[in-house]
Amino acid sequence: MSDICEVCGLPKEICVCEDIAREQQKISITIDRRRYGKMMTIIDGINSHELDIDALISNLKSICACGGTIKDGKIELQGDHRTKVKETLEKMGFMVEVI
Ligand SMILES: [Zn+2]
Repeated sequence: MSDICEVCGLPKEICVCEDIAREQQKISITIDRRRYGKMMTIIDGINSHELDIDALISNLKSICACGGTIKDGKIELQGDHRTKVKETLEKMGFMVEVI
């Protein structure tokens, strides 16, 4: 028995729901300057119903070798990691906009 997608009812091997969900999500990356000139990379527009935000932040933290938190559904990474975050999310199939 193969797994059946709950959304479209097709076997998971041929279901494209997840791909479609990713294409429809547009993630924005912004830089926020905090006190003492600290930079934060803010990743907004993540749909937590479609995507495991906890897995994503731990992945990004290890790729960027930085600390980070989830706040109001946004990922905040310490430092300026626009390029790496954009590359990583695009590889995962997301639409990314750097503001
Ligand atoms: Zn499906």
